[in-house]
Amino acid sequence: MNTYARLPVAFVRGQGVWLWDESGRRYLDALGGIAVNTLGHAHPKFVKAIADQTARLAHVSNLYRITEQERLADKLAAISGMDNAFFCNSGCEANEAAIKIARLFGHGKGIDSPAIVVMENAFHGRTLATLSATGSRKVQAGFEPLVSGFVRVPFNDLESIRQVAEHNRRIVAVLVEPIQGEGGIKVGATEYLRGLREICDRKGWLLMFDEVQCGFGRTGKWFVYQHAGVAPDVLALAKGLAGGVPIGCCLARGAAAGVFKPGNHGSTFGGNPLACAAALATIEAIEQERLMENAERIGMLIRGELGQALRDCKGLVDIRGRGLMVGAQLDRPCGELVMLALEAGMLINVTADNVVRLLPALVMNEAEAHTLVSVLAPLVREFLARPLVPTARA
Ligand code: PLP
Repeated sequence: MNTYARLPVAFVRGQGVWLWDESGRRYLDALGGIAVNTLGHAHPKFVKAIADQTARLAHVSNLYRITEQERLADKLAAISGMDNAFFCNSGCEANEAAIKIARLFGHGKGIDSPAIVVMENAFHGRTLATLSATGSRKVQAGFEPLVSGFVRVPFNDLESIRQVAEHNRRIVAVLVEPIQGEGGIKVGATEYLRGLREICDRKGWLLMFDEVQCGFGRTGKWFVYQHAGVAPDVLALAKGLAGGVPIGCCLARGAAAGVFKPGNHGSTFGGNPLACAAALATIEAIEQERLMENAERIGMLIRGELGQALRDCKGLVDIRGRGLMVGAQLDRPCGELVMLALEAGMLINVTADNVVRLLPALVMNEAEAHTLVSVLAPLVREFLARPLVPTARA
């Protein structure tokens, strides 16, 4: 179906942060499949794990014990501090599970119509429940009636949540991305995340972090909340967790971990041996190759060099992010830059209309980061040097 405005290129091969198209042209991949290719393309450990697992057993069913799933759940619990895991296949499904946990948790407390606090400019997916939780009219338009039970407040604003806490007795949880990805790489302040924890503790609400995009080593720690020293009750993961094999996971802790009982939720493919083997190999490579430290260092280098290269550009509003989650905000819509970058041999993305977004694989090295900046900075500079064209006529 006509769901994507696709760019006119098809890739046939990848290696690390490089891709080759059908004609043999090479591109620097600064987007990593939108934060999915954690280990880059064709990482030998990832390739071997998938090949070996497929040769043994790719899929059975959640009607039976799955040892790879149990190993992955244990490993995720150890690195996240969470207790229990539910496996699915995508980010929206991980959030669906979170939303269902919150509702069941609320009903358990005798709240008939539980509601969840969500943020402006949030993105949680495109199923009916998750697009209703998403803070973008563009994503929602045409799909009304939306799923009810969400109360929206501005991001990074504790005061508005305190007000909701005072007046709304139906609230059972807060769902938030610690760094908003689609919303324009907006970083939740440390005090904000700590304040959310404090409010949730005081009110008996679940704190639910959507780390589908920002999580899994990209920012220099496994999870963004670990930078702030706060633990969520529910954690949604997907994207980079299995390095390119579809997977989603909803982790829960404490009271939230025991909410689902047999029959409350399920997924045919969720946590099958193939996806779990890919995730275990991804985690092992991140640890063995110290890729979180690398992500932090290379991300800092990119932000620093890009800032330096564009320091006198008037149209540059901000360069921000954490680790290898980088956003450069311009003072005007800049979707055109995606095609200009492709023509220059590089994959980037623009989100929230005016934010150039970089989400490269965690294996990117210094030389590749220099190349990235040396290609991107002149493109942005030339783009900003063009006269501003009025968007609408009077
Ligand atoms: N949550 C966040 C923060 C995301 O960035 C995304 C996808 O971009 C999703 C959820 C939805 O994930 P998926 O496309 O795997 O359903």
